[in-house]
Amino acid sequence: MGNDIVDVIVVGAGPAGVSAAITLAKANKKVLLVDRGDSAGDKNMFGGVIYAKQTAEIFPSFWEDAPIERAVNTQKIYMLTDYNASIFEFDCSEKGSYKAFTVNRSKWDRWCVEQAVRQGAYYAPKTVVKSLLTEFGKVIGVETEQEKYYAEIVILADGVNSLLAKQIGLRKEIEDKDVTLAVKEVIKLPREVINDRFGIDDNGGCGCKVVGGPLKDVFAMGFIYTDKDAVSIGYGISLDDLKKKKITPYELLDELKAHPTIAKLIKDGKTIEYSAHMIPEGGAIKLPKIYDDNVMIVGDAAMLVNNIHMEGTNLAMLSGKLAAETAIESLTRHDHSAEFLKNYYKKLKNSIVLKDLQTHRNTVPFIKKHIKTLTNLYPELAQEFFKVLTEADDVPKYKKYRRFARKIIMSGAIFKSIPLGLFALEKCFKK
Ligand code: FAD
Repeated sequence: MGNDIVDVIVVGAGPAGVSAAITLAKANKKVLLVDRGDSAGDKNMFGGVIYAKQTAEIFPSFWEDAPIERAVNTQKIYMLTDYNASIFEFDCSEKGSYKAFTVNRSKWDRWCVEQAVRQGAYYAPKTVVKSLLTEFGKVIGVETEQEKYYAEIVILADGVNSLLAKQIGLRKEIEDKDVTLAVKEVIKLPREVINDRFGIDDNGGCGCKVVGGPLKDVFAMGFIYTDKDAVSIGYGISLDDLKKKKITPYELLDELKAHPTIAKLIKDGKTIEYSAHMIPEGGAIKLPKIYDDNVMIVGDAAMLVNNIHMEGTNLAMLSGKLAAETAIESLTRHDHSAEFLKNYYKKLKNSIVLKDLQTHRNTVPFIKKHIKTLTNLYPELAQEFFKVLTEADDVPKYKKYRRFARKIIMSGAIFKSIPLGLFALEKCFKK
């Protein structure tokens, strides 16, 4: 591309960057998408599921030819005690439509970039952006290890650490309490074994959330997702809680895998991948300034993750699209000032991205305060409840009811549930 000035440079070809690039390319803008990976998605990892709604806005009918693993039609919640679990299952299949799909990031990201290139975006893989080029304090391009590229606007989609946003003072260093460390293993298993163990068939998939057990007493949540011929298992834990627990991330994952209920799901599987990554969890409170003269920040780089609902890719894609739409308007008006690019922030504010982050602005600190109730007490009580309901032996029922009632009273469950109930109620009325 030489040293031409392009309309927009997008740094990072994850979900946020690729959706910005494709939106710009579709509007016939000259867009350069750069990524440090050998090929797109090489080093990217997630749980995980992509959500149909925002994905289809960028890639209509993507499920027809994209590299999908499985359509998720079953969701489960595992509430682990130390030895067993209460499992809640939700059949979320809907006639003729799917809300979420499991994908493998390296295959998925590569396919997404191919679509952007097909629409006319220039793609530069193996290109690390070292720094942003500035003139009179305004961003005018990027400097890679090879050369300098200039653009009217630069969109930063470089993920959770975003060194580039830090370079221009839009982001600060993330504190340990505002970041989750996520680790996961991909475990290969025969397809029919996965189907049997998760109660699905070749046309369906399962997404599981796991609380309690080895993850009790800390702000952590486990996940299990079914691919076609493999299962992804992992967890995310608040970095400050991991430090308190004095355990390595790998040891904690081993403990989760060894829990009797979980071990059954992955028995005889072969680990084919192990990876770790950070997830921002500061939410609306830690939202950085996401625009300035000639520059906007999208996706994880802007800390746009709803970790209460494990949503990141959808917010990344929507933010990429809204930033691109703002860039298109600003190119038409020849006005890339911070004043104009503030429209990106306004669009985000009117979208589910900031509405949801706003709803949950105080949720993480609240949950951390009540973590023992949620990850220890409730799994124990659920277990006790199912025991009372199902156990047939020589203990009279009234004694079992009494034992359960005593447990509820002695544990303070009612008292401890009041703030949780009120908090949940408050969320219903939050705008
Ligand atoms: P990323 O996907 O991180 O992409 C950033 C890109 O920028 C990368 O391709 C990287 O190579 C590139 N890059 C970085 N720096 C440079 C540079 N200097 N020069 C050039 N290129 C650069 N979300 C969901 O929706 N569903 C899930 O199930 C889910 N599960 C998750 C499980 C785990 C374990 C983790 C870690 C995250 C999960 N997420 C999930 C969150 C989701 O992965 C992220 O929110 C999403 O990937 C953010 O997209 P992004 O494009 O902003 O950033």
